Amino acid sequence: MGQKLKVEKVDIFIVPMELKYPFTTSFGTEKKRRVVIVSLESGDLKGWGECTAGEGPWYSYETVDTAVHIAKEFLVPLVLKQEFNNPTEFYQRISVVRGNNMIKAAFEEAFWDLYAKSLGKPLYVLLGGVRTKIFSGVSIGIKGSIDELIRHINMYLNMGYRRIKIKIKPGWDIEVVRQVRRQFPETPLQVDANAAYDISYITLFEELDKYNLLMIEQPFHYEDLVDHAYLQKRIGTPICLDESIHSIHLAKAAIALGSTRVINIKPGRVGGIIQSKEIHDYAKERNIPVWIGGMLESGIGRAHLVALATLPNVRYPNDVSASDRYYHEDIVEPEFKLNKDGTISVPNGPGIGVEVKEEFIEEKAIDIFEWS
Ligand SMILES: [Mg+2]
Repeated sequence: MGQKLKVEKVDIFIVPMELKYPFTTSFGTEKKRRVVIVSLESGDLKGWGECTAGEGPWYSYETVDTAVHIAKEFLVPLVLKQEFNNPTEFYQRISVVRGNNMIKAAFEEAFWDLYAKSLGKPLYVLLGGVRTKIFSGVSIGIKGSIDELIRHINMYLNMGYRRIKIKIKPGWDIEVVRQVRRQFPETPLQVDANAAYDISYITLFEELDKYNLLMIEQPFHYEDLVDHAYLQKRIGTPICLDESIHSIHLAKAAIALGSTRVINIKPGRVGGIIQSKEIHDYAKERNIPVWIGGMLESGIGRAHLVALATLPNVRYPNDVSASDRYYHEDIVEPEFKLNKDGTISVPNGPGIGVEVKEEFIEEKAIDIFEWS
């Protein structure tokens, strides 16, 4: 279906975005980030994608600067002036680049948006989405004190968020969870260690197991599927892998080993929407629920996350919050807003369904690269 799409123009914008609140994980603190935005043009259609690489190689080895390098030297020459029948062909073309999933995802997302617009359909419909509202959770970074954390949790619950996720690291874990649980005995709560622990902490996780957590996210090293499997046998709380799952291949291994009972899917981490959907589908067949994770995206990346979160096996609230959770002004309109019931409505227009504020991006960008 549809006609061939020729990529006639590629633009990359480097846009500085200031976060409303500094975001601290076991890796460090982010306050300002440069966001890499990719746009692909065909005829009078434009598709948009976003790279989730950070400033430093902490969550992933990719950084803003390596992403731009891979884009300029390798991805642009692979796709410019080329014709593609569908996103699968596009994905196969760029798959010759090993790894570098975040920048490949940005290109593939932009192509999906272009493709969906060429068909006049919302992206989520094309992906097989089954809902028009997605459940939104909030992820709260490490704070200066437990009181400050509790104030933030109160603020987000008052806004309507239904699930709270807190970041933990050695020294900021069991006492934090104990006090948060005492204040909020019923709130759906999960913790994310961002790989900050190892198997020597097993008794700590056995202790955390008593606090009725929805899940414990990525306790151990991202390459260590075996120790995660060992821990999962010792605790009832589901382990959810994030950093470990870079592809369908690793998802299969983690499920086979029993290292994970829930998967956090991030399109940037796994190399795009096709890989995300493949992991989703594989997990669904094995009754492993998934949810969609976030990486402080602007509205463009957020729109892609929202589309993915409509898939049927997304059975936990997502780390996909409203635009104003992170930024004073977003780069799309309308901005993503939180509904009273703790959901975000899925835009119904063609492609990502939100308008990209192109003038705003061009004005703010500190670098713009163009190929045509
Ligand atoms: Mg995580």
